Amino acid sequence: MDFKLILGVMTLLVVPFTTGSSVTFTRTQCDLVKFHGGNFQNSGIVDGGFKRAIQRLNDYAEACKVKIYITSSFRKDDKKVLWGTIVKPSKISNHFVGHAIDMNLMTPLIDGSRHFCNSQCLGDEKKQTKGEKCFLFQIGHDTTLRWGGNFSTPDPVHIDDGINKRNRAEYNRLFASLQTNCKTV
Ligand SMILES: [Zn+2]
Repeated sequence: MDFKLILGVMTLLVVPFTTGSSVTFTRTQCDLVKFHGGNFQNSGIVDGGFKRAIQRLNDYAEACKVKIYITSSFRKDDKKVLWGTIVKPSKISNHFVGHAIDMNLMTPLIDGSRHFCNSQCLGDEKKQTKGEKCFLFQIGHDTTLRWGGNFSTPDPVHIDDGINKRNRAEYNRLFASLQTNCKTV
């Protein structure tokens, strides 16, 4: 095997690992997409309209050197009310339209161990690493994303894009479509 060939084979082997920070999206049923990879430790399911928000979360995690562990994403509203042909949500949660995630954070430490930041930690700045603080700061300063830690009733594991407040008509449209057509995932 000549040197150039060896170099070519090595490049092929190395390239897939150097692009490890990007998120992968796969279409599921309806308009929902499954995301995984990049700085996400596991997977989640969101509306196609929330894909860019997921990409930004991945970028913030990359910049702040933290990993995101998803604890909840799209949820079925089991208590929704059927009013003739109108489907009414039991509460106006952005999880019901795939525009919200709940998460925990993880910071890889220099000694090889990891710092795990659960809801208690996310709600208490004193318990957070520099990277975790950095990540929450980025979301707080994003033009569309909202961090639940800033809500009047704090929900520090929660991140959404406030579609329920910004565009209720779109929220209602998505709710009717996703809650009616999509199976529990
Ligand atoms: Zn939530």
